Amino acid sequence: MNNNNEKMSLSDLPDEYYAGKKVLLRVDLNVPITKEGVIKEDYRIRRTIPSIKYLIKRKASVILASHLGRPDGKYHEDMSLKPLADKICQILDLDKVDFVNDCIGEAVNTKVAGMKQGEVLLLENLRFHKGETYNDPGFSQQLSAFADIYVNDAFSTSHRKHASTYGVAPYFEYKLAGFLVQKEMEVLNKLKSNPKRPFVLIIGGAKTKDKISSLEKLIGNADKVILGGGPAYTFMASEGVSVGNSIVEKELFDLVTEINRKHFNRILLPLDHIIAKDGDSTRDVKVSAEFIPDGYSGIDIGPETISFYTKEIMGDGQSDTNGTIFWNGPMGIFENDKSAHGTIDVARAVSIAYWRGAYTVVGGGDTTAALRKANVLETEVDFISTGGGATLMYLGEDVIPGIDILSSKNNN
Ligand code: AMP
Repeated sequence: MNNNNEKMSLSDLPDEYYAGKKVLLRVDLNVPITKEGVIKEDYRIRRTIPSIKYLIKRKASVILASHLGRPDGKYHEDMSLKPLADKICQILDLDKVDFVNDCIGEAVNTKVAGMKQGEVLLLENLRFHKGETYNDPGFSQQLSAFADIYVNDAFSTSHRKHASTYGVAPYFEYKLAGFLVQKEMEVLNKLKSNPKRPFVLIIGGAKTKDKISSLEKLIGNADKVILGGGPAYTFMASEGVSVGNSIVEKELFDLVTEINRKHFNRILLPLDHIIAKDGDSTRDVKVSAEFIPDGYSGIDIGPETISFYTKEIMGDGQSDTNGTIFWNGPMGIFENDKSAHGTIDVARAVSIAYWRGAYTVVGGGDTTAALRKANVLETEVDFISTGGGATLMYLGEDVIPGIDILSSKNNN
């Protein structure tokens, strides 16, 4: 065992060390669930299974902690993690995964104290307490008090300095990276260090600020950047092109202008758009060339852009087009069928690129859902990253808080 200043992973501790230990395993179970408790997408859950299985096999007691949605520090029945206990139980083929309706406090301490070796307990949504997102030291202390070892396997939330991804770590002698985190870093390190060329980035979605700040750091390593959604409109608007009422982040104009000045020859913007009457993405939907008139917003890339972008992604099957592709963020409001074509065709183009030999990585919950909507199988891309913002941050910077903290010294 090392001296605690280097990041360790689950397999770095001897097998025998786990027996009888209580392990706090931070996972990301933030998956779409219907009001009836039906889990619509279980990719993230399935990715956490290897770490859970590993710990069960070594006779640890596994305490699963996660957030779900944004309940803002209050209990919301529809954001309870309770339905997840049965789902995990079913995937793991166990007799039981226990659930406790809080994540700190007496009830939790008692439940954990009574856990036997190899048992699994799911805690209630961490974000029902404000202390989670505020990284409150008191909350972190309570959350760490009942466990012997901390494992972070929630890569997708590791860009947040929250109590469960950051604040708790220094309370533990052993704070480890889980297998999901390890795998994510292994794949993303490949993209960072020496990507097969050309390296094509596809960036869309609505969280424009996060995407553009990561893009600024990433673009130097990319050969081509294909933009859709909010980032595209912000670039267009910064050049004075009319974008109607499309989503735009005006405060990013200076940054975007600077990125454009340095890298304009790598950035591809839409040639045409699918637009709709403001406030209703299903009303008066039509194609608009070049700019978006007042009273309308851009809801997807247009047909000419689809043809342009998909050719850039798939290449022509020649060897010099089989490089690396990283995609995060849909090209439009893909949840709505009238504005899903751009995202669906980009998803299919990415999978064709995969079949033609490109190394293809797709990241983020919505982008993963878009693959499903396009009938692209998980096996038709090289890797699906569970992270959106975290993945972009890790690609753009050397470390992200929830991973960096695993190499820190402990408080005790
Ligand atoms: P993100 O988490 O940033 O990748 O954003 C995903 C969301 O962006 C999806 O729910 C899309 O509906 C949304 N989105 C993509 N393009 C647009 C657009 N042009 N206008 C509004 N929302 C969009």
